Amino acid sequence: MTIKELTDYLEKIAPLSYQEDYDNCGLIVGDSNAEITNVLVSLDVTLEVIEEAIAKKCNLIIAHHPLIFKGLKKLNGKNYIEKSVIKAIKNDIAIYAIHTNLDNITNGVNFKIAEKLNLQNVSILKPKSDTLMKLTVFCPKENTPRLQDAFYAAGAGEIGNYSNCSFKSTGIGSFKPNSVAAPVIGQNNKYEEVEENRIEVVFPAYLEGKILEAMRKNHSYEEVAYYLHKIENDNQGVGSGAIGYLPEAMSKSEFLAYLKNSMNLNVIRFTETKAEKIKKVAVCGGVGSFLLADAKKQGADAFVTADYKYHEFFDAENQIMIADIGHFESEVYTKDLIVEIISKKFTNFASYLSEIDTNPIKYYH
Ligand SMILES: [Zn+2]
Ligand SMILES: [Zn+2]
Repeated sequence: MTIKELTDYLEKIAPLSYQEDYDNCGLIVGDSNAEITNVLVSLDVTLEVIEEAIAKKCNLIIAHHPLIFKGLKKLNGKNYIEKSVIKAIKNDIAIYAIHTNLDNITNGVNFKIAEKLNLQNVSILKPKSDTLMKLTVFCPKENTPRLQDAFYAAGAGEIGNYSNCSFKSTGIGSFKPNSVAAPVIGQNNKYEEVEENRIEVVFPAYLEGKILEAMRKNHSYEEVAYYLHKIENDNQGVGSGAIGYLPEAMSKSEFLAYLKNSMNLNVIRFTETKAEKIKKVAVCGGVGSFLLADAKKQGADAFVTADYKYHEFFDAENQIMIADIGHFESEVYTKDLIVEIISKKFTNFASYLSEIDTNPIKYYH
């Protein structure tokens, strides 16, 4: 099995178009047509992780954080990034990053944190807008089921827990083929009216090409009448952070102990809050301060995240407990998530969890 077959599958689950602008997800080093021996899953790529891949006979490292964020102008081993790239290439090891595209999906990084905290009724904290499109197409009545099926197969009509979603209405279409047209219905130079269906489907914008191809392949007319629209609806399945409810309300000290235990933490940096009990909890793996306003707006009692700066803690304003658990600690279970995603589908190679502690931050007690 090739690297491309695996990464195509990963990108169906976490499409590259859902990554943030600053990110650099996808295959960073290596040949996508190479056969996979085994896969090593890690949070970060370091020289030690590449050595581990060599020892475990893995020729693909899947990491959450991209090894390369900015462009490389020279490649001569001056820093750990260049050294790691050189070592990977010399040893025929490919490096793939599944980063903010995995943060931004339902059942991604933040849902994994929610799972560790046993949160219930989990949803995306800040859904993304401008990721959906709508297609309206007109077709002869008998062409309708074939077109609908083709749209569903191409990924249209998925809303939350529902698939095969579309709307159909019937009306009269009119046209007059010119003398060189090859009409399926009607005759050249003769005005025609036909009973047609109007089909409407919603789909993720990144599938536009596939959906239009499905339409052209499965529509019976020579010229297809359709409208393509960008829609502004929030996409409830895609966005930043997650929010849900603890199985039962806890006192603040109970919650902190529970958080420390559930996420296996050394230390929690937190703010005081006027709330007596913690029940509704927002989470964001890695840097999360940009979501504080959303966590407050949705009435979260606590916001579990990382990389908070001193002045940013003041923004809690006694209304919410900010709990900074550390970047590595907040995302370390992403490794398990990636292995679960891969091993659910593929059994013809092994996926190993990296055993290297890549956290560059140590704690002195
Ligand atoms: Zn992340
Ligand atoms: Zn991160």
